[in-house]
Amino acid sequence: MEQHLPDFNNLKISFENKSDQELKKAIWLFKMMNNPSLVKYGSMLGLWAVENSIPFTETIVKKTIFEHFCGGTTFESSIESINKLKKYHIQTVLDYGAEGKETEADWEKTKNEFLNAIDFASKQSSVPLISIKVTGLSRFELLEKVSANRVLSEKEQQEWQKVKERVDAVCKKAFDHHLGVFIDAEETWIQDAVDNLVNEMMQKYNKEKVTVYNTFQCYRKDRFDFLVASHELAKQNNYLLGAKLVRGAYMEKERERAASLELPSPINTDKAATDAMYNKCLKYCFEHLETIAVCNATHNANSSMLLANWMIEKNIPLNHPHTLFCQLLMLQNIWYTVL
Ligand SMILES: Cc1cc2nc3c(=O)[nH]c(=O)nc-3n(C[C@H](O)[C@H](O)[C@H](O)COP(=O)(O)OP(=O)(O)OC[C@H]3O[C@@H](n4cnc5c(N)ncnc54)[C@H](O)[C@@H]3O)c2cc1C
Repeated sequence: MEQHLPDFNNLKISFENKSDQELKKAIWLFKMMNNPSLVKYGSMLGLWAVENSIPFTETIVKKTIFEHFCGGTTFESSIESINKLKKYHIQTVLDYGAEGKETEADWEKTKNEFLNAIDFASKQSSVPLISIKVTGLSRFELLEKVSANRVLSEKEQQEWQKVKERVDAVCKKAFDHHLGVFIDAEETWIQDAVDNLVNEMMQKYNKEKVTVYNTFQCYRKDRFDFLVASHELAKQNNYLLGAKLVRGAYMEKERERAASLELPSPINTDKAATDAMYNKCLKYCFEHLETIAVCNATHNANSSMLLANWMIEKNIPLNHPHTLFCQLLMLQNIWYTVL
């Protein structure tokens, strides 16, 4: 079958799934978000309003930011968004937002939410994956200590064992229900612990097909080498690599921390270097599609076109299970339908 490239400039098709009112609201919201002072002071004001139970705060948040970025606060309330996307052949990844939790009860609760998400997803025809954050299942400082290879006390070893069991329970359930799990990448100083844990999960659950995906932040100078090393490890241990590629979300924080500790920044020096790293990682994955399932997780049209172009050139079926395109809700444009 002849395959065609999408034309991202055809806005009629791109935004067919949005009403004029939704688009106007999105433009307004993105203009606001482009104003750094407004974002900084608005976030502070918002947090203060929530903490002090100021009337109407929840309604205002729900009607603005929330509507644009969240599909729903419960599984049931997400069904409308899921079905709207499904109409345009867009699948949904369930992403339960939980991080920075502090108690054993919180982490267990988050694990149970992830397990419930898998139950819910398995009953939907267009929800093949869920997304999780290890910081929703573990104490941040513990991840930091494990990443730094510091010796854990006996109590901490038990705590770490429980974190591993929670992550394993989620991956196992996803595996049993034929769903996938994206495991988010976070700050560099906790990421080694996350990476090692994800590698263990991939070794266990990615033997025949890809259930577990690690996330590679291409704003990091070391990520191409790490991608290749992860692939080598997968080949040596006979499992498939799941690679979700992103540019990375913690750039300012990473640079500030490195500067304050007088360490070299782990982040590429400029956007062009990050773009080049992203494309290099994407190309590597594309050249090894037999053993790597890649998720092109970006809103960058050039990166999306790049993979689409290569797929068309090489006549790779657009529904190939090892090529995914993924965006956050409301930043989508329905050309991904065609892909
Ligand atoms: C489905 C999905 C899942 C995601 N999961 C994660 C995740 O697990 N972990 C995570 O960290 N992020 C995650 N992100 C966010 C992602 O890392 C990016 O922050 C976001 O998508 C913007 O990058 P872009 O490729 O879409 O767009 P672009 O606009 O092309 O790129 C913006 C990005 O480029 C990089 N950049 C910008 N300026 C510079 C500079 N001066 N120097 C170096 N680099 C620069 C930054 O990473 C910035 O976020 C996810 C995004 C998506 C769509």
